[in-house]
Amino acid sequence: MRRFIIALVAVVAILTAAKAFAAIKVITTTEDLAALVTEIGGNKVTVESLAKGYQDPHFVEAKPSFIIKLHSADLLVVVGRELEIAWLPPLITQSRNAAIQPGSGGYLDASQTARILDIPTGLITRAMGDVHPSGNPHYWLDPNNGRLMAKAIQNKLSNMSRADAAYFAQRYDDFDKRLAEAEKRWTAAMAPYKGLKVVTYHRSWPNFADAFGLDVIGYVEPKPGIPPSPAHTLDLQQEMKAKNVKILLVEPYFDLKTPNAIGRDTGAKVLVMPPSVGGVKEATNYIQLFDYDINLLVSTIKQTGTK
Ligand SMILES: [Zn+2]
Repeated sequence: MRRFIIALVAVVAILTAAKAFAAIKVITTTEDLAALVTEIGGNKVTVESLAKGYQDPHFVEAKPSFIIKLHSADLLVVVGRELEIAWLPPLITQSRNAAIQPGSGGYLDASQTARILDIPTGLITRAMGDVHPSGNPHYWLDPNNGRLMAKAIQNKLSNMSRADAAYFAQRYDDFDKRLAEAEKRWTAAMAPYKGLKVVTYHRSWPNFADAFGLDVIGYVEPKPGIPPSPAHTLDLQQEMKAKNVKILLVEPYFDLKTPNAIGRDTGAKVLVMPPSVGGVKEATNYIQLFDYDINLLVSTIKQTGTK
């Protein structure tokens, strides 16, 4: 009996120790969020994204495996601003995980502390087809928002694991420093093209354009989430020719038929540019995403000879 009790005490001690050292299990909706969680969480977290970076984050195919992942998660991080509203809410409900329900301690909406653009002033509902009724959800494409999101993640992880707060703070400082270095590089690369007029397929780039001085003069979609129409395309082509727009940015998950037709008509170069980590194999973390996009953009601008 005595031996049994000793064994039992040992087992309990081992289990308690294991729990103390267990990594926080984080699920994110997008790879951008997962990359930022990795920056801050290091080896104190495990992280997995539900959507892949090459998928349209508005319309992700919900898989049963997502429910299983959510069921055992300690923390769910979402982009918010209704980006995931078409696919995520039923999965959260079906996960039967009280910890990650909206408003619970294991739920983080990363948009809450970020700078959000395109916040509608009038009445806009999804019934009108606009998938951005709560402001623009593509806010992670401004590096300073990446910094604010990393800070929100640091605060959340520190609340969940107070013993690791200093570790998360040190990793935030390191990320902040590397990001600031990278921002100098990106700003310098984009400086010669300040005010350059571009058109984009979806309204994914307002924060990016704002951060790097681009002027987005129109969109292939008549409204966010609404497919191109012949009348709108004709108007857009006229405007692009009038304003000498030579760059058309397209997110990797849209059909290239209309963009290519617009490119032929206007002489603009169609540039497929990933808005997310994981959108191309080179963009494996948050800083690399901007490195990749800015290199691609600058080399394409040079090819068009606009400047
Ligand atoms: Zn969108």
